[in-house]
Amino acid sequence: MIPMVDLKTQYHDLKQEIDRAVLDAIESSQFILGPNVTAFEQESAAYLGAAHAVSCASGTDALHLAILAAGIGPGDEVITSPFTFIATAEAICYAGATPVFVDIDPQTFNIDPTLIEAAITPRTRAVIPVHLFGQPAELSEIKAICEAHKLQLIEDCAQSFGAATGGSMTGTHGSLGCFSFFPSKNLGCYGDGGLVTCATPELAEQLKVLRNHGSRVRYHHSVIGFNSRLDDIQAAILRVKLKRIDQFNNGRRRVAHLYSELLRDVATVPYEDGKGVHVYHQYTLLTDRRDAVMAHLSERKIACAVYYPIPLHRQDVFAAACAGISLPIAENVASRCMSLPIYPEMPEESVRVVAEAVRESLLG
Ligand SMILES: *Cc1c(COP(=O)(O)O)cnc(C)c1O
Repeated sequence: MIPMVDLKTQYHDLKQEIDRAVLDAIESSQFILGPNVTAFEQESAAYLGAAHAVSCASGTDALHLAILAAGIGPGDEVITSPFTFIATAEAICYAGATPVFVDIDPQTFNIDPTLIEAAITPRTRAVIPVHLFGQPAELSEIKAICEAHKLQLIEDCAQSFGAATGGSMTGTHGSLGCFSFFPSKNLGCYGDGGLVTCATPELAEQLKVLRNHGSRVRYHHSVIGFNSRLDDIQAAILRVKLKRIDQFNNGRRRVAHLYSELLRDVATVPYEDGKGVHVYHQYTLLTDRRDAVMAHLSERKIACAVYYPIPLHRQDVFAAACAGISLPIAENVASRCMSLPIYPEMPEESVRVVAEAVRESLLG
């Protein structure tokens, strides 16, 4: 069996250090907003080149808190991609705002910047590009549009920790950047976790208040906030893994580049724009014969998956609101995309076995 991801191998590689860090965190018994949380926020801000970083309980919460800190609420519209995990749009709805879906670029799978301006209305407050599969969105163009129309740029970096474009990391191009540490993400903890990067001390302060029951001083509550904190134990694990994030991302890139070399002539392999660093949270190709390829892989005991089979404007939850909307590129990509196993420690031999099985199914 070749799995989509193998979290156990990475744990075994780091076992001594992670076990020590977890036991030390338990021994210190500062479980909530303890010293590892503060240290991890400082270390991740330094790594990313962000002015501030505030941790929270999940990537979904990171988006929700960021949207609230940006002052977005009922009656507001937020432009985002229809080709993403549901959480991007959920967070917009939690704040009482309305997601407006703009079609994607067929090569990068990210929101198409040339289509954004037509979707702006007097109610538009922000654009949330998603750096899908670890591929940075067209941030220079999106940023220029946001500046011209006075919109906030909030990045969904759940799949792009360590990815960069135009010389800086994703999560540092707009006013806020939202990260997830779900176990299988490029930087993952051993449960749920999230982080928001931001450009100003005022935003950082608001995020800290929002994640901790609307409280700046204990038992004094200025706004309705949330219980959304990163556990100290999770922060301790993340600190061990953050030191190796470049090694992990380079491992993913090594796997992806070998796949592309072996599959370029039989399928549409992922695109790299040459402007930055794609960190391959997923290795996703396009083929007109997806069902046949997937059936063949599963016969060979090779895992594969479709991220994502239904674009958000076609999901039941948004179907009524989006009834008249057609986003042909997202619909086409959703019908032809498939993702292959990828993780930093994946042996070259396994990559070759998967690629050979894909080739057989398409050529055979
Ligand atoms: C994983 C993910 C999220 C949500 O993160 P959680 O930590 O699972 O809440 C949001 N957006 C995208 C694009 C994701 O992949």
